[in-house]
Amino acid sequence: MKKIAVLGSTGSIGTQTLEIVRANKDLEVVALAAGSNVERMEEQIREFSPRVAAMWSEKACKDLQARVKDINVKILCGMEGLLEIAVMEEMEVLVTAIVGMIGIRPTIAAIENGKTIALANKETLVTAGHIIMPLAEKKGVSILPVDSEHSAIYQSINGENTKRVEKILLTASGGPFRGKTKEELKTMKVEEALKHPNWAMGKKITIDSATMVNKGLEVMEAKWLFGVDLDRIEVVVHPQSIIHSMVEYADGAVMAQLGMPDMKLPIAYALFYPDRRPLEGKRVDFFELGTLTFERPDLETFTGLKLAFKAAEQGGSMPTVYNAANEKAVSLFLERKIGFMQIPELIGASMEKHRKIDFPGVEEILQAEQETYDFIGQVVN
Ligand code: NDP
Repeated sequence: MKKIAVLGSTGSIGTQTLEIVRANKDLEVVALAAGSNVERMEEQIREFSPRVAAMWSEKACKDLQARVKDINVKILCGMEGLLEIAVMEEMEVLVTAIVGMIGIRPTIAAIENGKTIALANKETLVTAGHIIMPLAEKKGVSILPVDSEHSAIYQSINGENTKRVEKILLTASGGPFRGKTKEELKTMKVEEALKHPNWAMGKKITIDSATMVNKGLEVMEAKWLFGVDLDRIEVVVHPQSIIHSMVEYADGAVMAQLGMPDMKLPIAYALFYPDRRPLEGKRVDFFELGTLTFERPDLETFTGLKLAFKAAEQGGSMPTVYNAANEKAVSLFLERKIGFMQIPELIGASMEKHRKIDFPGVEEILQAEQETYDFIGQVVN
């Protein structure tokens, strides 16, 4: 029996992780955590019987305590709850499926305690990769990517000599606004940005796909996960989302992982690595597909992606500012307080304003995050 804990169990990745648990009787859920969705958390507790459950918001936490009085489950609140789950003795794999930089501290705590990480929460690596990757190496901990592109890369380097990797070809669908002009993007509404052509995901990452900031975050995630320089990571727009990413080797061979767009595949791969479990669902039908196409990303229109390369090149605290500015700008866009193109504009302005710290510790990362939030709060009012 493999014992897992899921941070962000009520979200898109979290619920799909629990679907995998439902289909595989040798997985046991020992802990669940979420933000404020008490109804779904109560359902999950009743179905999966975790020993511990945590809610971020104080109100949700109290509400949950009252709802599950009849069950033997320990309810925890806030960051303390996430940290207690991260170090639970019996837990073997921590699925980090919360959204945002809130995942940094629990991820570090879990690694310090030797837990395997199934990592969906890319913001953690983007902002604290320089802390997390060396720590994981020191502790002999595996970080197994859940992001479909990074899982594809992981699968494409499995059994290969990583010293012979020439290039990582990170594929991108291009999102709902592929082919649009900057002028057209200015008037895009929340509903239009939330209509991803291939993937059903949480709101924040869906907006990140529309701006292509998601791909920028993934470039930084790949740099840390696979220890490759930025000039060896190339973004390839592939609208069909069948090739989930590729690796080019020194002899010119290109290895790729293909599949239908379904996050359950990379989630299951991370949970059972190196095994492959049967997974129901549509298979790739090449005759039905006919053509797979590829394009260069339009960095002049999707400036959020261009800024990501700049933030990654500068390194230090700059990726934190990039990420924090994006988090804040996306939530303002979802609240309809700013326009779509203001998202990359605010990221750019935040990066201009910031004075970079070279090797930020966790406190400095969180401080840079807060300063960025405050800056955007002043600019947008
Ligand atoms: P969702 O918005 O669907 O879910 C987020 C989850 O995190 C929810 O369970 C939410 O709880 C919980 N949460 C939010 N804030 C807190 C907090 N402060 N403390 C504890 N729990 C919290 O996001 P996704 O599942 O789409 O994404 C999760 C992560 O995975 C992100 O980092 C994303 O970039 C990454 N990812 C997602 C993919 C996808 O297909 N969705 C693909 C690849 C990566 P509640 O519901 O109660 O608010």
